[in-house]
Amino acid sequence: MTIRLVAFALLAITFFGGCQKDPADFANGNFISYRHDLDVGASARDLISSSKYKSLTVELQYLSEDFRPDATVIAHFKSMLQSRLNKPGGITIIEKQIQPSQISFGVSQIRSIEQTSRTEFTEGNKLSVYVLYLNGYYAVDSFVLGAAYRNTSIAIFGKSVNDYSEGNASKKKVFDATVLEHEFCHLLGLVDEGTTPQSAHKDAANGNHCTNHNCLMYFAFMDTDHSSQYANGLASVPKLDSACIADLRAAGGK
Ligand SMILES: [Zn+2]
Ligand SMILES: [Zn+2]
Repeated sequence: MTIRLVAFALLAITFFGGCQKDPADFANGNFISYRHDLDVGASARDLISSSKYKSLTVELQYLSEDFRPDATVIAHFKSMLQSRLNKPGGITIIEKQIQPSQISFGVSQIRSIEQTSRTEFTEGNKLSVYVLYLNGYYAVDSFVLGAAYRNTSIAIFGKSVNDYSEGNASKKKVFDATVLEHEFCHLLGLVDEGTTPQSAHKDAANGNHCTNHNCLMYFAFMDTDHSSQYANGLASVPKLDSACIADLRAAGGK
């Protein structure tokens, strides 16, 4: 049996710099002008707790049906959010296909697609997150699976996910859900990127990740050729460990 470590995008977390402003600036609808860029983790508490925002909308856009995450993946993702985030007003996921584009995407193209296509913004007591499912690779590194690139923005590189999945539908679902949920947890400020760790579990050598191999926030995903790994479908998606959950709880989450 061979074991392959599939690394998440370590670099991606710092794709963009951004001025540190009060997240309240973000709520005024001027986001589209990009004058209010914030770093990943800057809205962690707002996402986790209900103190400021009671509900959450995740706008998930995809460039091609072929790369659209399966409905079971979306349900798994939503259930993970519901179990960890304190959003009494509910969590809504809105999916939409947008114009197909090129095969690989650099930072400026990703920004520009978001600028053109994003329609859900933070307003009132509703916070919004944008998820962009690309039908290609990250231009700089085709091994990158996904990126949390702004305080409320995630991109998933569908071609890379498909490559890793090797035509195995069950494996693709596991990868889709794992990458989506892992990147979302970066927006929640894990590990030590906006949310204060309650114990020593930051894998400092690998950026803002968890030291526990079995945790969703481990820096890599253990991919084996052992057929049983994916036989249970989405039950194989790594979960947050107790150390990461304790961090979220301390920040007002569940
Ligand atoms: Zn990561
Ligand atoms: Zn962890």
